[in-house]
Amino acid sequence: MEKNKQAYMNEAEEALLHTYNRFQIVLDHGDGVYLYDLEGKKYLDFAAGIAVFALGYHYPGYDDAVKNQVDKLIHTSNLFYSVPVAEAAHKLKSVSGMDRVFFTNSGTEAMEGAIKSAKKYAWQKDGSHDHEIIAMKGSFHGRSIGALSVTGNDHYQEPFKPLLSGIKFAQYNDLDSVKALVNEKTCAIVLETLQGEGGIYVADPSFMQGLKEICEEQDILLILDEVQCGMGRTGSMFCYQNYGIRPDIVTVAKALGCGVPIGAFLCTEKAAVLTPGDHGTTYGGNPLVCAAASKVLDIFEQDHIVDHVKEVGAYLYEQLEKLTAETDKIIAHRGMGLMQGIEFNEAPGAIVKKAQDKGLIVITAENNVIRFVPPLVIEKQHVDEMIAILKECIE
Ligand SMILES: *Cc1c(COP(=O)(O)O)cnc(C)c1O
Repeated sequence: MEKNKQAYMNEAEEALLHTYNRFQIVLDHGDGVYLYDLEGKKYLDFAAGIAVFALGYHYPGYDDAVKNQVDKLIHTSNLFYSVPVAEAAHKLKSVSGMDRVFFTNSGTEAMEGAIKSAKKYAWQKDGSHDHEIIAMKGSFHGRSIGALSVTGNDHYQEPFKPLLSGIKFAQYNDLDSVKALVNEKTCAIVLETLQGEGGIYVADPSFMQGLKEICEEQDILLILDEVQCGMGRTGSMFCYQNYGIRPDIVTVAKALGCGVPIGAFLCTEKAAVLTPGDHGTTYGGNPLVCAAASKVLDIFEQDHIVDHVKEVGAYLYEQLEKLTAETDKIIAHRGMGLMQGIEFNEAPGAIVKKAQDKGLIVITAENNVIRFVPPLVIEKQHVDEMIAILKECIE
């Protein structure tokens, strides 16, 4: 007899390290913008595996591209060339306007590469080892020691100190707080172009442009983390394109492979300082994941995914503005494109749970925010469906 849902959940909890308080759902398969659990219950997915499944589930052409590569060659190591890797790198270069690509397995590893690049860039200039990085309060960049060191969250950092030295934290959207920390030791300023985990905070244009100016004047590298907000989510292929600037380094991951583990850091020629011996990865950007990313980038272009985000994102914005106006429980609404959040006057855990019971998956950010990072292919009708369920759950 097949095991029931509870038995699988127990089995998982007995074996896995308890680093997540998982929802009481055992997911089984997906179709379009819907997920199905083991018992066949259907959920409208407004989380997309945390901003990963940009194209939803089983988008035409995607599965075949992955399957074909499985049949050909999954892995080569980076000691060899392969067609999918060359193609994915060129396409990523072209849509980003950056010069060089290094593929990784995750967003965290992309951040590690970015930090290492900044350190070497500064070391090449003066040979000293006491350079500083300015990061932002409320940021999230990953869980490795390097990425955690620039993550502005005391709770995440505390048990693991000492972390990297020379990291200072400024206030997001407060240019003066950054200026106060800049000195001749500063080698990089790192931030999310749109803060995700910290509660969905959009950068002011004056802040972003101000940072770019400081970096240019003082020869500091501007590192933008677009692991979550990149790949079309904000209505531009990359969020920095909304600001008319180009960073020195940008990190990408979540939606790049639409479900297979691939990330990347991209840099300008100036910041392309890592050379053989400096950095590497066994799996990173192997033919399988690059075939997926390459297909994703083709689909984005052919099916005008970014234009679609602009349209549906604007519709989601309108509907969430209305919802916010209707209830005292929601105290703020923020975001851009299909990366938006509503802030509640208390932790919205009970609302998230009720939504699941009613067949809607949403996730939180920070303590009081429900975050909307649906597949980029959702239609207006799905926004309506989501709002209707959410309204019932709030009342
Ligand atoms: C998710 C996330 C990361 C970490 O990416 P992983 O793939 O989980 O390692 C880094 N930065 C931002 C902004 C993220 O949202």
